[in-house]
Amino acid sequence: MDEFDTIARLFRPLAEDAPEALGLMDDAAVLPVRSGFELVITTDTLVEGVHFRADDAPEHIAQKLLRVNLSDLAAKAAEPYGYLLNLAWPPSWGEARRTAFANGLAHDQAAFGLKLFGGDTVSTPGPLTIGATLFGHVPAGRMVKRSGAKVGDVVLVSGTIGDGALGLKALNGDLTGLDDADLAALAARYLRPEPRLELRQALRAYAMSAADVSDGLLADVGHIAEASGLGVEIELERIPFSSGALAVLNSAHDSLRGHERPMGWLLTLATSGDDYEVVCTADADLAPALIAAAEAVGVQMTAIGRMTAGRGVLATFEGKAVQLDRLGWRHG
Ligand code: ADP
Ligand code: MG
Repeated sequence: MDEFDTIARLFRPLAEDAPEALGLMDDAAVLPVRSGFELVITTDTLVEGVHFRADDAPEHIAQKLLRVNLSDLAAKAAEPYGYLLNLAWPPSWGEARRTAFANGLAHDQAAFGLKLFGGDTVSTPGPLTIGATLFGHVPAGRMVKRSGAKVGDVVLVSGTIGDGALGLKALNGDLTGLDDADLAALAARYLRPEPRLELRQALRAYAMSAADVSDGLLADVGHIAEASGLGVEIELERIPFSSGALAVLNSAHDSLRGHERPMGWLLTLATSGDDYEVVCTADADLAPALIAAAEAVGVQMTAIGRMTAGRGVLATFEGKAVQLDRLGWRHG
């Protein structure tokens, strides 16, 4: 399949519902300006062997590409609109894998209300490299920024932390002693993260600042603190964990008894990234309303700390400061 076949057979059907895409027959897409709204734009690139495994299902790779970007839109309280797709296919990606990849895109376009606007397709002698640029809408002036946190704001995080990183270990056979249901749940969090788009109204109503958790919880709260010119204090014992992560923490606690760094696993989960949860801050008086609004749409939000007048990230465990050698994942 050459580039033009790929576009015509796989991608044109995905753009059928998007008049903006002009049937993928033009040099560019053209987007109407929606009055009273702003466009929120985000892009992320995934590389085989770095962001997904070479033997992950093509459908899952496609969905991960959209979902890591949707997670950014979710954290900004934006409503998904459409996307551009950039693909560098290696020779090993023949028609069957490309078709499965397009099926994964079709599934998530329908699930999350996204339209394909266009993209670019090239060949590469290297690993599969894929990028998406997503567009979302917010009412003008209402995007939730990293920079809006105030001293005394409560820090809250959605869902559970550390499952993506544990899922990768589970898939690689590096996690032992967990039951099958926990292993499967962790693997699913790595392969197909769930962007927290349902939080949009709650964030718009109550959040002062927000970020998606992709680099690691402590790194991403650090980004909020830095953008807001503040410090942040996180109580590690309040971080929410799934049953699989708790099983790991509990067994590690036993095997690490007497170890010089018993905080090891807890810090690993708090810094490992690939969570695709939302971390946000809210005025202390409004945090309960934010938690209730999130619960009403089926998302657990947990208070884990507070914004301070200092600088940087201070982590505590049961009231004592914990030494951090790294906050999260850094690329390059
Ligand atoms: P040009 O050479 O003018 O940049 P292309 O030949 O790259 O145009 O693309 C032709 C059309 O196909 C454009 O509408 C473009 O957006 C679309 N397209 C190319 N690659 C992709 C892709 N991976 N996904 C979606 N649309 C694509
Ligand atoms: Mg081109």
